[in-house]
Amino acid sequence: MPSLRYSLSDYIALEDTLDLSLGDPTSSSATTPRNSQIVLANVNWVCQAMNSVGNLRHPNEETASLSTELSHMGNLNHFHMPHHLTTRDGPGEHNMDFLRRLIGTTASALDNPAIPWKSLIITFALGEYALETYLSYRQYQVLQRKHIPAQLKQEIDQKTFDKSQAYGRSKFWFGLVSGAWNQAKSLAVIRYNVYPALWAVTGTWMLQYAPGFLQGEITRSLVFAFSYSFVETALGLPFSYYYHFYLEERYGFNKQTLKLWLTDLVKSQALSLAFGIPLGAAFLAIVQRTGDTFFLYLWFFALAVQLGAITLYPLVIVPLFNKLTPLEPGLLKERVEALAQKLAFPLAELRVIDGSKRSAHSNAYFTGLPWKKTIVLYDTLIAKSSVPEVEAILAHELGHWKMGHTTKLLGISAGHLFFVFGLFSVFIKNGSLYEAFGFGKERPIIIGFILFNEVLSPTNAVVKLAMNIWTRSMEFQAGRSSSLLLVLHLDWRYTG
Ligand SMILES: [Zn+2]
Repeated sequence: MPSLRYSLSDYIALEDTLDLSLGDPTSSSATTPRNSQIVLANVNWVCQAMNSVGNLRHPNEETASLSTELSHMGNLNHFHMPHHLTTRDGPGEHNMDFLRRLIGTTASALDNPAIPWKSLIITFALGEYALETYLSYRQYQVLQRKHIPAQLKQEIDQKTFDKSQAYGRSKFWFGLVSGAWNQAKSLAVIRYNVYPALWAVTGTWMLQYAPGFLQGEITRSLVFAFSYSFVETALGLPFSYYYHFYLEERYGFNKQTLKLWLTDLVKSQALSLAFGIPLGAAFLAIVQRTGDTFFLYLWFFALAVQLGAITLYPLVIVPLFNKLTPLEPGLLKERVEALAQKLAFPLAELRVIDGSKRSAHSNAYFTGLPWKKTIVLYDTLIAKSSVPEVEAILAHELGHWKMGHTTKLLGISAGHLFFVFGLFSVFIKNGSLYEAFGFGKERPIIIGFILFNEVLSPTNAVVKLAMNIWTRSMEFQAGRSSSLLLVLHLDWRYTG
């Protein structure tokens, strides 16, 4: 068994993943809205398209990237629709009736002007923020330690450890400032009734500039969502700029030029329009047209979008930001192919991605449909790791696949989506909620969805915690199945 030595960025990669598993809020980047810290938010494509359009992240983003999220959900075909949801008659009909009644009763109980929705949401948001800040402060205390933990003594030297601790502390401070800013921003949006104000403004714009056939709730909602999201993106730019060109730069991780940063920004905004407009319109049309049980249709739609995304992401999106080349024949290729064969992993392609044009951080992931997968290695990983090291990392990642974690995650995410959309149908006609936020007679779907997300956010904290506990146990399982990684739970910053 070869001894594994890790460079600074490798050690940090390990640390980052542990941070993520512990739910450390400092690991989120400036461009990530609060809601997307939710572990499962990544699955929620439609919600993202509607709720935070413009935040479509490209492969280089500093939090869990879409590429990995999708790669972790590769196994769609193992997911079977429950029978009672696929058919409208037979025993399923009773379940549907029960579901309708349950939704109706809950909905009318919650539509109560005596419920102080706004104060409840603000209180929970502040409570969650205080808890997260406290947790990251605890993490900060760990980052102040001067001595290498006994388990890592073999693997890294003092200088590397010191640098890594300093990097972690810098990220803590960054997270503290950007987190406080985001918190203040979302409270201001609620406090100063930004939603109704913007909704009114978009109404005026529409009447003035939009041609007749574009008048209507869907177009107006899209104009509303994109205006909001563009402002939000613009407000996040100073943080993103600081993160890449000061913080990452200081530790030698930033490799991108200002020009690349700007073109990435333009491309991701264009993509969010290209995908957000049709997906958003479809989302609203489904709610408008399918009646009381719209959430079932919404759910099928979201699952279909997810399947489409898994297929299209590596083919369409990744090449817009990166160049992928086949891995050169040689020892590494042989070893990886042998590993895939040993695990019966359906490896179709083995490619190298030019991650080095943006960052010195390294990564490896797999992606694709269940029967035809692609393994993608970062050029930065190949450059600084030996063949056994890369093999060890892949063994861990493929360990996740072997243990069925990708399928389980997909199943859980489908269940979570069902829960989210089902609850949405409980809240969509809640007049007291609309009124608390400054909406009178008019109750636009998109506003209902945004307000519902605000109500949901405390439950997201609970879901997030449960998911963290669960993904951590998966990490140890995947670690166990790869013989080279017994000492260290080594994971790569974007992969699980
Ligand atoms: Zn892992």
